[in-house]
Amino acid sequence: MDRTYLIKPALDEEYPVIDFGKGVYLYDMEGKKYLDGASGAVTANIGHGVEEIIQAMKKQAGQVSFVYRSQFTSRPAEELAEKIAMAMPGDLNWSFFVNSGSEATETAMKIAIQYWQEKGRSMKTKILSRWVSYHGITLGALSMSGHPGRRSRFIPLLADFPVISPPYCYRCPFNKEPSSCGLECAEELDLAIRRIGADSIAAFIAEPVVGASGGAITPPKGYYKAIRRICDEHGILFIADEVMTGFGRTGKMLALEHWEVTPDIVSLGKGMGAGYAPIAAALVSEKVMLPIRNGSGTIMSGHTLSANPQSCAAALAVMEYLEKNKVLSRVEENGVYLRNLLEKMKASYPFIGNIRGMGLLLGVEFVADPATKTSFPRSLNFTGSIVKLAQEAGLLLYPAAAGLDGVSGDAVILSPPLTINKRELEELVRLFRRVLDKAGRELV
Ligand code: PLP
Repeated sequence: MDRTYLIKPALDEEYPVIDFGKGVYLYDMEGKKYLDGASGAVTANIGHGVEEIIQAMKKQAGQVSFVYRSQFTSRPAEELAEKIAMAMPGDLNWSFFVNSGSEATETAMKIAIQYWQEKGRSMKTKILSRWVSYHGITLGALSMSGHPGRRSRFIPLLADFPVISPPYCYRCPFNKEPSSCGLECAEELDLAIRRIGADSIAAFIAEPVVGASGGAITPPKGYYKAIRRICDEHGILFIADEVMTGFGRTGKMLALEHWEVTPDIVSLGKGMGAGYAPIAAALVSEKVMLPIRNGSGTIMSGHTLSANPQSCAAALAVMEYLEKNKVLSRVEENGVYLRNLLEKMKASYPFIGNIRGMGLLLGVEFVADPATKTSFPRSLNFTGSIVKLAQEAGLLLYPAAAGLDGVSGDAVILSPPLTINKRELEELVRLFRRVLDKAGRELV
């Protein structure tokens, strides 16, 4: 190819062309093999080239690929919604299908606002959020995102939403240790609601495990129980953004199940179609649907390709694959295995500051000085260099921002397909070590 017509993230960089994928590996046109240690962008949850999904998509394509949601429903859309309702905790029984995680969080936001309108509380329109968070790139989703790097160009167009500090124990915003932690980061929500006034707030949104903006940050014990209580006390809805964590990434359908907390609305994406088709969803509880059904009887949102039969057939096949192969039951064990391998190598790399995460969503934060937790200078682009060195070595990693300001730190996410086996996990860590050895020689 002597020129390209495709706009890619870095306009002047050359990207390898992928020929095919099989299992946890991708192969480019030059024959180079990559171990997909990131599932792309935490998406290819059951690996590449899975025959059952391909056959299900072919079958659906042979029947019908598109029907318009205002005229028809389809069998795969109905079946998928039912299967999701059966698999979800609490009364999260309703699915609104969309095409990307951003659309899912933006739909969740609009449903939360509409819920209050239907109850005659039209002033409740603000969505409180956290700094060090990412909920999507469309303007509503970006408004809720505490990700300075992705917000900065659009500040004048964004609602000024993020409000509270992240539950970031490695860099506790309240300078606490686990032994002295009083869940100040959760109680900050209570203070924020009292300052702003619950009368103007529709909901609070959070990623159960912080992904792209923090590098798999997990909260302290009791955090989400406290968040749920505070939301209920003030009469605001709780939206869980499970676009990255949902559909088994942490070993359960929703990460919030680990803490026995049920949100009012959930956004799903990424692993739902596992990369086979663009599909995402806002899941809505009976509690939220009731006044809408009794009121206007319609949700004021939607896209031409919402509930697309082809995408729904792919997601349905992914769910069936997860069930048939008992994939989720292995995630926790494999996550612990990978984490132990990472912890064992930590001592050899003084620039590893923190290893964290849950299930097969693990984060490694890098620091210039582990004693002071000082980050590398931005000019070094440490995360970018690590990801590039890894790709050269045949390992795919997912870059993440880090630091309390969401810009000053360096982290990568390790999130291989949930179907990875122990031998492949060991290979992943061998490649990662090779990358960090090289980084130690060339970057630090
Ligand atoms: N929410 C979370 C938690 C995410 O991690 C992402 C993407 O990284 C999104 C929303 C946006 O999803 P998409 O890129 O599919 O629009």
